[in-house]
Amino acid sequence: MAVMKFGGTSVGTAKAMQQAIAIVAGQRRTGVPLVVLSACSGITNKLIQIAEAAGAGRIEEALARVGEVRKHHLELVDGLITGEALRAELAEKIDAYVSHLEMLSKGIEIVGELTERSKDMFCSFGELLSTTVFAAAMNEQGHRSQWLDIRQVMITDDRYGFARPIEEICEAKVAGLIRPVLDSGVIVVTQGYIGSTEAGKTTTLGRGGSDLSAALLGAWLHDDSIQIWTDVDGVMTCDPRLVAEARSIRIMTFSEAAELAYLGAKVLHPDTIAPAVRKNIPVYVLNTWHPDSKGTLITDDPALLSGMSYDGLVKSIAVKKGQAIVNVRSNRMFGRHGFMNELFGVFERFGVSVEMISTSEVSVSLTVDDSSVSEPLIHALSAIGDVELEHHVATVSVVGDNLRMSKGVAGRIFASLRNVNLRMISQGASEINVGVVVDEHDVAAAVSALHCEFFSGEQCGIFEKPAGS
Ligand code: ADP
Ligand code: ASP
Ligand code: MG
Repeated sequence: MAVMKFGGTSVGTAKAMQQAIAIVAGQRRTGVPLVVLSACSGITNKLIQIAEAAGAGRIEEALARVGEVRKHHLELVDGLITGEALRAELAEKIDAYVSHLEMLSKGIEIVGELTERSKDMFCSFGELLSTTVFAAAMNEQGHRSQWLDIRQVMITDDRYGFARPIEEICEAKVAGLIRPVLDSGVIVVTQGYIGSTEAGKTTTLGRGGSDLSAALLGAWLHDDSIQIWTDVDGVMTCDPRLVAEARSIRIMTFSEAAELAYLGAKVLHPDTIAPAVRKNIPVYVLNTWHPDSKGTLITDDPALLSGMSYDGLVKSIAVKKGQAIVNVRSNRMFGRHGFMNELFGVFERFGVSVEMISTSEVSVSLTVDDSSVSEPLIHALSAIGDVELEHHVATVSVVGDNLRMSKGVAGRIFASLRNVNLRMISQGASEINVGVVVDEHDVAAAVSALHCEFFSGEQCGIFEKPAGS
């Protein structure tokens, strides 16, 4: 059995939904899948705008945008559903969600404050709406399906905006609420990204979290595969929006995929790989628009990995924009213990996660998300040293298992980046990545230089070994 997750662009329009339905129907022959959907592309952003407008007292703007959400989903129904009665039923369901959103907006306007908890409530409507339309269309086309509110299954802690599941509870819920439906031959259609606390308050797993939902559900169901259907031909040598020559990677290991996702490759949510590793389930990243192309297989299976020859050093290049460098310089640091503890204590107090780090005798340079830099954080850091900040930088990292035992990689990286101003350099402790920090304006130059160095010509291919070799 498989869990099949379709991302925002794969369900964003009637045409896309129809394509996704055809893909699910195609797999129906080999088993009964669990289908996990994102919100239609752009809708989660819109829901956040609604929440923020309501919180700031701009209720007219909030309600106008709620109207846009309604219109989008009614158009989806128009393009996808043929039966008059079903159209009317769906219009009613959409209107029920929409009036809930309107009430929520007005409530937040009156209270005058938007909390993380209410924001999650707003965000949950995108997935609730997309799955409602999808499940109805599946049934109308003869593919027996049941819509499920995943908030009955995905029971999480109460870290709103970044909730994580309480796995023992979820696993039991999967066994009770999903397994029997699949066993009876009925496809289950449900939401990614959202969950609920034990007390019944809606939570979200964080932006891009539907990949994580799918991986968790696949692990709890002991599925044979976790399929991430998206808008590109799998994981590529670089974000194709940055480098037009980017190519698909046929196969990669769990550690390479996890590292790449953490270092910024948006194609997978960073936490997607962990549940797959725990149960050793292969993850496929596939293109909804080219369902017959092979996409990427992520696995640690030695038999599958040895079926491919890969003599390149680097598998892929990841970019994370919107970063800041924080430099803390202090003579007190020299030969003194406890300094790092003090420094990281400050970041911990402010809940800011540190990404890259490099140190000298008297200074420490760190990168953090630009949006997490605040006056109080800088003030607290100033108590232990002189602080300098550099905004609008990006980390550019090369990733590959082969980096671990290869000589001369650093030389090639720095030679290819000789014309780029490097603000910081770091090698990951796992030794399968090397990262540099550059000004955001230099990202395009840095990435194309690295891509050209490691992926131009014959040596960049990830080839299938000819049969019998
Ligand atoms: P979905 O809505 O299906 O979850 P996302 O937009 O979250 O899709 O992720 C897919 C996007 O990830 C692609 O359109 C691509 O621009 C971007 N991306 C970034 N890095 C990579 C990479 N290494 N390989 C493929 N896509 C990448
Ligand atoms: N809809 C959510 C988002 O846009 C979750 C997801 O698409 O994975 O972040
Ligand atoms: Mg995504």
